[in-house]
Amino acid sequence: MTASALKILNEVFGYHEFRGDQESVISAALEGRDTLVLQPTGGGKSICYQIPAILLDGVTLVVSPLIALMQDQVAALKLLDIDAAYLNSTLSVFEQGEVYRRLTGGEIKLLYVAPERLLQAETVARLQKLSISLIAIDEAHCVSQWGHDFREDYLSLGRLAELFPGVPRMALTATATADVREEIVAQLQLNDPARFVARFDRPNIRYEVQAKLDPKRQLLRFLSEHRGAAGIVYCMSRKKTESTAEWLHKEGFIALPYHAGLDAVTRADHQHQFVNNDGVIIVATIAFGMGIDKPDVRFVAHLDLPKSMESYYQETGRAGRDGEPAFAWLVYGLQDVLRLRQMVDSSPSSDARKQNERRKLDALLGWCEVTECRRRSLLAYFGDELADDCGNCDICLSPPDVFDGTEVAQKLISAVYRTGQRFGAVHVIDVLLGKENEKVRQHGHDRLSVFGIGKDLDQKQWRSILRQLVVVGLLKVDSEGYGALQLSESSRPLLRGETHLPLRRDLLAKQKVRATKRQGADLADEDIALFDALRDVRKKLADELDVPPYVIFHDATLKQMAVDKPKNDGALIAISGVGQTKLERYGSAFLEVISATP
Ligand code: ADP
Ligand code: ZN
Repeated sequence: MTASALKILNEVFGYHEFRGDQESVISAALEGRDTLVLQPTGGGKSICYQIPAILLDGVTLVVSPLIALMQDQVAALKLLDIDAAYLNSTLSVFEQGEVYRRLTGGEIKLLYVAPERLLQAETVARLQKLSISLIAIDEAHCVSQWGHDFREDYLSLGRLAELFPGVPRMALTATATADVREEIVAQLQLNDPARFVARFDRPNIRYEVQAKLDPKRQLLRFLSEHRGAAGIVYCMSRKKTESTAEWLHKEGFIALPYHAGLDAVTRADHQHQFVNNDGVIIVATIAFGMGIDKPDVRFVAHLDLPKSMESYYQETGRAGRDGEPAFAWLVYGLQDVLRLRQMVDSSPSSDARKQNERRKLDALLGWCEVTECRRRSLLAYFGDELADDCGNCDICLSPPDVFDGTEVAQKLISAVYRTGQRFGAVHVIDVLLGKENEKVRQHGHDRLSVFGIGKDLDQKQWRSILRQLVVVGLLKVDSEGYGALQLSESSRPLLRGETHLPLRRDLLAKQKVRATKRQGADLADEDIALFDALRDVRKKLADELDVPPYVIFHDATLKQMAVDKPKNDGALIAISGVGQTKLERYGSAFLEVISATP
């Protein structure tokens, strides 16, 4: 059984060996067991159900919440000569009829379908007449009400157990903590599923978090290290995505905005350009990303904080699905901390839900401030352990400058206390700095003992300290919505000098300038020209077929070609990512370029 699975992996997909749990998942599915598959993005989940679909008699249903993703997957399968189709709201009545005709004629091995469509009585009735071999439920965490991506339609998917009795089901997701995992099993009514929980680590992604000091300059410095690379820049607001895209454009980048407020045509066009052209930066709200399958996204940058570790992990997980080096970069500052804290506190949710949101936010904020290996700390949140420091995160590469912050924290907390716990960050810092402005005089704060005791630091440094105090809970933000700073239970022991507080120094000047990198820079100089030429043929073929370039071959496959310079079919098919069908269809186009390039 596994022998035939391996044969398909080699011949159809062009890959030499299984990755991670793929082989065991496939065996379990072929034995008819329900399965739960947790793998990080880019882990190779699709093959877990695509290979059984090919090997088993009948049709495999793939439940997917995302229309764009379905279309891409079906297009990619067609290039491999695998019979696949999708059913969703974009199809005309005629096209649907055609899909059903092919289904009944046994001409389809994989049918992608949206959950709401699948559960319609008519669809169920038609599908029940067919032989269904397997049901794969992608993005299974959408069933979790406590997760971050809940979808009403997913809740009803439990019914599939009765509607298709005896058909093995496979739930797949890239994000799930232990509780969400159990919720998936329960809600989907999986029957004693075989569980495959992969490591959540994405070793090729380098994590970096910076204090927000001069965000534009910081972003520019980051992007200048990735010229020519495709990436996503996430912002909080629609307006900010537009102004940032415009500014990046002026700075010489190809940058396009994306948010739910743009009209559908513009949105589709920007997404299309991002997916189909090389080196486009999309500046987006979180409305963008779900359903983008582009494997060669080289970086994900956050100009504003996401709302939880789960969201962060998922959003940054869109980088580097192809396994090549990728970058997750984030800046955050006092304002983000205050805003998000207040947003949670003043939301209309139930107390239990608020508590849950607060916990999630605190975990993220705490993670931003860690002073140990950032990857280890990220994985720990998902219940995964890393034995050694990773050597590929900001902290491992350049440990933060930590100092004893007890005294400055005391000054700041005293200033909050002496001004009556009624003022926000700006005013409290003005008092510390000894600024004699209108508001300070009006409240008589220029006569307080704390007035001017913080002149040795500047405003940015005080904001950095304040941010850290709020994150560790030494100061609270008033939940009424005015943003007044207040003492907490843990403030007094610190004021009395009973506890000590390590703080980090955030200094813009300290951030080291790194050498500029270009796409393909990990290749030897003499191979870059060939790599570029190969990318050009790929783009030409992709445009002719109206598919994204990566559907033809991944960058990693082209890089291998540039290094190995295969001269014939035999040498070409030895390269990972080149299967039988693609060899026959496109092999000669690439071989020609290789022989023509000196
Ligand atoms: P996921 O759905 O888990 O995010 P995908 O199924 O999209 O991941 O796979 C990510 C990429 O890895 C795809 O381009 C896929 O072709 C590739 N891939 C999957 N399995 C293997 C393998 N065994 N060897 C090499 N590449 C693989
Ligand atoms: Zn590390």
